[in-house]
Amino acid sequence: MNREISKKELLENDIISHYATPLDILSQTTDDYLFLLDIEKDVNRFFGDISAEFSIDIDENGTNTTDKFIAVVHPNDREVLLNDINDIRQGKKDFHNIDYRLINKNGKSVWVSCRGAVIRDLNGNPLIMIGRISREALAHMYNPLTGLFNQIKLLSDIKIELPQRKSGYIILVDIDDLSAINLTHGRAYGDDLLITIASLMEKIPSISKVYHTERNYFAGIVEVETDDNIREIYSFLCDSLSEKCTITTAALPYSSEIFSDEDTLYNALKLVMSKAKDNGRRSLKFYKDEEFKQKITSVSLLEEFQESVNNNFEGFYLNYQPQVTSSDYKLFSVEALLRYTSKSSGRIFPDEFIPLLESTKLIIPVGLWVLKTALLQCKEWRKYIRDLHISVNFSVVQLRDKNIVSDIFRVLDETDMNGDCLTIEVTESIPADGKSWFISIISELKKRNIQIAIDDFGTGYSNLGYLRDMEIDEIKIDRMFIKDIEKDTYNYRLVENTISFAKTNSIRSCCEGVETPKELAFLESSSPDIIQGYLFDKPCFPEEIYESYMDPESAKYKTRIEFLKALAEYKSQTSPITFNPKNILRDTNVGLWIIRTSHEKGINELHIDDTMETIMGIDKKLTPSECYKFWHDRIREDYAEYINENLLLITTLDKVVQLEYPWNHPTMGEVMVRSNGKLTKREDDFVIIEGYHRILSNIKTV
Ligand code: C2E
Ligand code: CA
Ligand code: CA
Repeated sequence: MNREISKKELLENDIISHYATPLDILSQTTDDYLFLLDIEKDVNRFFGDISAEFSIDIDENGTNTTDKFIAVVHPNDREVLLNDINDIRQGKKDFHNIDYRLINKNGKSVWVSCRGAVIRDLNGNPLIMIGRISREALAHMYNPLTGLFNQIKLLSDIKIELPQRKSGYIILVDIDDLSAINLTHGRAYGDDLLITIASLMEKIPSISKVYHTERNYFAGIVEVETDDNIREIYSFLCDSLSEKCTITTAALPYSSEIFSDEDTLYNALKLVMSKAKDNGRRSLKFYKDEEFKQKITSVSLLEEFQESVNNNFEGFYLNYQPQVTSSDYKLFSVEALLRYTSKSSGRIFPDEFIPLLESTKLIIPVGLWVLKTALLQCKEWRKYIRDLHISVNFSVVQLRDKNIVSDIFRVLDETDMNGDCLTIEVTESIPADGKSWFISIISELKKRNIQIAIDDFGTGYSNLGYLRDMEIDEIKIDRMFIKDIEKDTYNYRLVENTISFAKTNSIRSCCEGVETPKELAFLESSSPDIIQGYLFDKPCFPEEIYESYMDPESAKYKTRIEFLKALAEYKSQTSPITFNPKNILRDTNVGLWIIRTSHEKGINELHIDDTMETIMGIDKKLTPSECYKFWHDRIREDYAEYINENLLLITTLDKVVQLEYPWNHPTMGEVMVRSNGKLTKREDDFVIIEGYHRILSNIKTV
């Protein structure tokens, strides 16, 4: 198409009407807002109902001027936008491509991606620009609460900017104890705090960009030269927030001379943050402190790693942690855990060095070395325990390597071991978009009977239905849910439900991080298959495993047997209390439930006990999300709104709320139901409501 149009033609046909019809039609096919800017006259016409969302001052022809448009642009973004439009007006560029925030009718900022192409006249002067304003293009890149860009956008910006960067800083700001603040003052207060910090940081002139990278983390790109400048910013933030909270801040130089890529940089930032917290919160920590230089200067440590890899993995070694069967505590498997002793900085922990290995992909050769060493060790131990298993951790970086399956098979061949002795542990941080890719790896590995365990279950996004579809062999329930389980009814029920779901789907369940006999006694009432934790053993050297489990003559073996006796004694003393409320509830048809909801993650779960399952007429195992849907879909239509409103209300009250509503029972038809519930817990992104449920229609009173 010839994009050049004669001035004459334009004068004859008003340019806006010339393009209006096709744009009008096109706008019906997209959620984006299309626009046509007459550059010369500064008349802008929108297609699509932009004024429904933003309070844009538009005249009866659907047009306005740049000035009027700028009024709904976030003040911090106006300059960038105006500069770009000026460049276009002066003919300096033919394409417009910037991101900025518009303020919507509720006063919230919404990031939009705005793109346009300029059409020039025959003399080469810019005449009009046609383009689109899209919210969708950036929807996955910002945080809906603060309207700031998120971690995805930060990493993609660093990727572009880093190569040219020699100066400036990146800081990461964390609110200390946000969860506790949420608990004491309520979620709304915590949200306000996040918004306050966001706008404080945005007002600091030397911070050129602010990102809301994770729930309680803000990152800022700071255009200053010295550490002292950063200290000033930190104390300004602390002073401004002193009434409300304390903060911890990590800072590092934004320079390609120090960091090779965006992942290394962000990982280092988080490491500095975790160090800052180790020193107690309320602090500011710089990357360049000597202590860091030694430990995590990626350059020197990475060189050391590379050298180790070339040098037959010198410095790397494995510890093994037993996984025992529940109730008889036989050694079922050992988990191989990687360790590293650095020549320059001594012993370093996996939480520190694994991210570094991952960022350089060195984890791939190291991981295969781990696999081989662990398999050979298992082979040796199988002389004593015939069916011993070995569990090896694989991170997503390792699994994404295109040769991973053939490499694993090759190591099996080299060590002359069968796949069925091997369990591969994968954290559940496999992104949802990676599901099909992940499923195909699993099915490849299954060809040689390798088993798959989902590590740290409960901490990420996966739900039980997802695991059932994926043919997982084992779930490792994270220590976060096990810790103090005897005091936490929510965790207890969650673990109980997970284990029972696993059982019905023939998935093995393992409880991680069991430290006390009390925790063990509570867990065992749900009969998990496997237990792992310091209560039995910390990660050990191979000789220690041999002595404790395979050499009946050794002192360690005898100590272990003594310990098992003491444990049995303890359990018999604390065994079932005679008063069992569960039976009473069952006999009186009172079902117990927990609703776990996250608006942010779009998750609604209903966890129920066996009685509730029976009285709701559920005849097969449902996942908590399926269960929620089952319950909710059966509320009589005209009551659904009432229930939804009250569920929201409960989350703001510290009281028990009672609801009565008609519910469509699968076999009994419509019944009246009464539910009493109360908010019991707020976690970072979740609220938890607990309560009981009974059917009123069939209760016989005497
Ligand atoms: P993980 O796979 O969740 O490993 C379990 C971690 O929990 C280990 O930490 C272990 O020492 C610790 N642990 C076990 N029982 C208890 C307990 O009762 N209480 C407490 N507080 N902690 C307990 P470790 O060895 O520091 O490993 C940290 C993480 O590093 C591992 O978490 C795993 O994700 C990763 N990792 C370790 N070795 C490898 C490896 O060879 N390859 C890969 N990709 N990752 C590895
Ligand atoms: Ca693991
Ligand atoms: Ca784990």
